[in-house]
Amino acid sequence: MAGIIWNKLIGQERIRSVFDSAFENGTLGHAYLLCGDAGSGKFAAAFDLAQALLCLSDTQKPCGECVSCKKVKKYSHSDFHVIMPVVLEKEHKSTDGKLSEAGWKLLSEVVVNRIEDPYAIRSFSSIPSIPVDWVKEVTHAIMRGPLEGGRNVVIMDRVDLMAKEAANAMLKTLEEPPAGTVMILCTNRIHAVLPTIISRCQILRFGWLPPETIRESLSRKFDVSSKDPKVTACIGYGALGEAMQQFQNPGSALMEDTAKFWSACVSQEWSSVTGMIDAFTLINDYGSYERIFLLIMQGIRSSFFRTLEGAENYIMGDGTPEFPLQGVRTPERAGELIDLCERSIGYLRARAGVALVFAEFAISVMEILNGKKCQIG
Ligand SMILES: [Zn+2]
Repeated sequence: MAGIIWNKLIGQERIRSVFDSAFENGTLGHAYLLCGDAGSGKFAAAFDLAQALLCLSDTQKPCGECVSCKKVKKYSHSDFHVIMPVVLEKEHKSTDGKLSEAGWKLLSEVVVNRIEDPYAIRSFSSIPSIPVDWVKEVTHAIMRGPLEGGRNVVIMDRVDLMAKEAANAMLKTLEEPPAGTVMILCTNRIHAVLPTIISRCQILRFGWLPPETIRESLSRKFDVSSKDPKVTACIGYGALGEAMQQFQNPGSALMEDTAKFWSACVSQEWSSVTGMIDAFTLINDYGSYERIFLLIMQGIRSSFFRTLEGAENYIMGDGTPEFPLQGVRTPERAGELIDLCERSIGYLRARAGVALVFAEFAISVMEILNGKKCQIG
């Protein structure tokens, strides 16, 4: 057997070689946790692997032509399962709180869109969650065994957003799935994934893509010259999804605004902080709020690792704004700041007011940097 044909995944040579050799030698594990920034290609890799595992071709896999490949692509293969966070409205639930027919329909639409464009960064009108019914159904399908493909393949996207009840529903399956089952979990917040899940998986980290890879992908995807200044403006965004977002909405500049907010926090300019908070509250998109904190985490990591050798995977591209680390010299301090971002995401998920979450974050950053309680005004 040869390696996998990576149709969707862009770059990430190290990840490819790990999967290629395990695929060739028949030594694939039963559970992987792919972690890396949003838009770095985790879902694309998981999809290519899933399609290859179910492909019926005798030669190159996935062939894209066989009945199995086509079903996987349309998300209609009975042994291919995807679980991901969604925002459920009233009509998606029936009176007993379970998913309604419209709810199930929504789930498959979301999956089909994700397969279509695995690099697109999803936005959420409200706080997304992974429906426990969905997890239970997939768990049931795995335990029942494959119906047509010889094995079950599962992708669980954003497994960090899985609530305890949903996680418990799948823990046993994750520990001892029937032979041949492959479960591919994805996250951009590994420290928010339950330890009981992490301990059952092999972990693979996705790095940032080199500028030239981003340049080439953007020009192909949007059918523009690779020398187009609009393309050049985005090539430093080390995750392709992030770069696509910048290309499509050059005015939105969430990353720039986030860097501005961060700079205002670390330089303790309270009036700039409140100005940015006012601007953020107008965005009104949960996905963007979460991304602000994720970008800050990336920024902190990136600035911190810039001084270290062998940490290139963690460093943001040259075109990205700087996230200054005034006074943060130790990994412990950087860790405290990253924990703070996680805590803020937790507050957002608990439906705390957006302005309050950002203000609390800013004050806490100042306190960490000063090593003491903050006085405002
Ligand atoms: Zn095929």
